[in-house]
Amino acid sequence: LSRAASESHRGTAPRTVSVLGATGSIGSSTLDLLSRNRDAYQVEVLSAHSRVAALIKAAKIHRPAVAVIGRNDLYSELKDGLSGTGIEVVSGEDALIEAASRPVDITVGGIVGAAGLKPSLAAAKHSKVLALANKECLVCAGDLFNAELKKSGASLIPVDSEHSAIFQVLDANRPERIERLMLTASGGPFWQWSYADMEDVTPEQAVAHPKWSMGAKISVDSASMMNKGLEVIEAYHLFPVRPDQIEVVIHPQSVVHSMVEYCDGSVLAQMGNPDMRTPISLALAWPDRMPTPVKRLDFASLSDLSFAPPDLTRFPCLRLAGEALRNGGAFPTLLNAANEIAVQAFLDKTIGFLDIARVVEDCMSKGCAQILRTLDEVMEVDAEVRLSAQSVINCMKRTCVAMPQSVQQG
Ligand code: NDP
Ligand code: MG
Repeated sequence: LSRAASESHRGTAPRTVSVLGATGSIGSSTLDLLSRNRDAYQVEVLSAHSRVAALIKAAKIHRPAVAVIGRNDLYSELKDGLSGTGIEVVSGEDALIEAASRPVDITVGGIVGAAGLKPSLAAAKHSKVLALANKECLVCAGDLFNAELKKSGASLIPVDSEHSAIFQVLDANRPERIERLMLTASGGPFWQWSYADMEDVTPEQAVAHPKWSMGAKISVDSASMMNKGLEVIEAYHLFPVRPDQIEVVIHPQSVVHSMVEYCDGSVLAQMGNPDMRTPISLALAWPDRMPTPVKRLDFASLSDLSFAPPDLTRFPCLRLAGEALRNGGAFPTLLNAANEIAVQAFLDKTIGFLDIARVVEDCMSKGCAQILRTLDEVMEVDAEVRLSAQSVINCMKRTCVAMPQSVQQG
């Protein structure tokens, strides 16, 4: 707990909050909580990328000092929509980074993908608390984040439900007493499907998550279990453990959000109904808590909590993420970039569901363990891998067109 964050929290003045990715699933849940606690928070920045109507609506309700739209071509629409409100309107990536650099008490990092890296890093420099949902930026530049946080004294409070759970039950003062972190995974919509059946999965089926309502990219990641793989790497950067101390356990009910096992055999778990407003509220109120309308657990009806080991053969993305973490260097950055391109191609119906892992594996086979020391180096690898993933996808498309149907099915 940094002294600055603690002192600011004790004061009665509203805490200033910037919400990056305000129109997304994390952003909307954050705004819902802020609406319920109007006196305690004052919104500084709201950002979106293309959903300009949703941003205008949110800005009219929450009255930020500045509203940012990523796409420059939508600037006029945002400007017109907010005319007369006194809210400053800006657009583009540089403006987003500048807005994320405004000194505030809390920044909620709810942008999806590596696009959130620079704004989240800016927030790590200038906010007292970084409430981070954007796991991809820790995966591709975890060491840079930790170095930046050390320099600025800002506190990173994880919003990802598993990491929020661990944050709540982990005794960081005695890392030598921690034996294992156990990240729970719902398993996604296909956890009981055969590998062959997953070949024909559609984007519509993949985004229909059984337990959580989330943006399209993370929903596909959950279905492929790449999400859990990214979370293993995220946990490595957030908590004082070695890669071999992080395990994944399938828990389809998503009631136990993760667990820490200590050297005496005690296992501490954090539980609750699956609703992101619980971890987001913790990050907003921390080191306090705030009341939320989240449905309470009814223990009398929780008769069938089940746990199972993950299957790395049917879910190769989870295996690939483990390899990326163990290989280190540029591998996690590479894994993430290849996955982002592959997931988008799957959502665009250019490749099949199982091709996501094939694209990532192909890119990883060309990777190297070079340590990425600067943001420029990370961005360079990220850009190179995106091109290489795209050419793997183009190659798949060509092979698909060239092959007669019978060969493809055989
Ligand atoms: P959504 O797709 O619902 O929202 C993403 C947000 O980021 C939107 O506001 C979007 O703007 C904005 N955005 C998209 N692309 C860019 C870009 N290039 N530059 C700037 N902003 C951009 O995603 P989620 O809210 O589901 O997820 C956000 C992050 O949180 C992800 O990293 C995810 O892994 C993580 N997370 C999400 C959970 C959830 O329950 N949803 C749970 C745990 C972690 P616009 O709407 O205009 O496109
Ligand atoms: Mg999660």
